[in-house]
Amino acid sequence: MALTDFFDQCRIGGKAIYIVVDHHKALAAWAIERRKLASAPYLLTIDHHTDTDEAFRGYVCMSAYEDSSVDEDALAAELIAAIDWSSDESLTEAIGKLRHDEHIHAATKSGTLNASFSIQLSDQSGYVEPNENGIYVVPHKCAIGCLKKVYDDECVVHHALEIIESPYLDDQLRRIGDITQGLGLPNIESLPYILDIDLDAFHSIKAVNPDDASTFRRLIRGALAITIATEPEWVKEVWEDEHNEPSADQLLTAVLGHIEEACKL
Ligand SMILES: [Zn+2]
Repeated sequence: MALTDFFDQCRIGGKAIYIVVDHHKALAAWAIERRKLASAPYLLTIDHHTDTDEAFRGYVCMSAYEDSSVDEDALAAELIAAIDWSSDESLTEAIGKLRHDEHIHAATKSGTLNASFSIQLSDQSGYVEPNENGIYVVPHKCAIGCLKKVYDDECVVHHALEIIESPYLDDQLRRIGDITQGLGLPNIESLPYILDIDLDAFHSIKAVNPDDASTFRRLIRGALAITIATEPEWVKEVWEDEHNEPSADQLLTAVLGHIEEACKL
């Protein structure tokens, strides 16, 4: 199996865009980008979920269930150590054993990515957990200006509407700036980064058509490459738009439209 079997690819304004259905297959695209560089790039990801599960946990649990002599930690460590981003064969093997939400850990542990910063909607704890694996979930409380003490059903809706609005992204980028500064690094936009977008970050058609897309488009322009996970089942699962049917295709068209606009400038 070739790595290109894991994704559809196009180029917009000279930028490589990789489209996967299942998010974990983006590891193939990240490895291809890694090979073009002297050192591992960073990941800036926009997602509903945090996607911070440990690599191969699902596979390892299943193996231990089928054979009680399996040492789960040892097997997970062995599988992680075997990931070689320069080898198509190794990546094909790894992707076959990864489950959803395990790809970022697989990438940072294998040196495919240096570190990752997740702008996401599912963890509202509001602070960054120190992470030795180079995976940083960017904190938020809710939409900009929301003063509610408890994140309620209304928050779920107004927060998701802001996911790529400029004031919200600017705030998230400031928080990422605090993290990178703490790591002795410059701002994420001055680092080589891949922009990764999971379409389940968009809970409505309005969310993907923000009033101000300037920051989102700047992030697109600055990215080395862009990976998009369509995750149609998750799009359905988190959909909150009563005026439109959930459609990963429609969201994908809108995101590609932003990329085209961004790359024109
Ligand atoms: Zn709120």
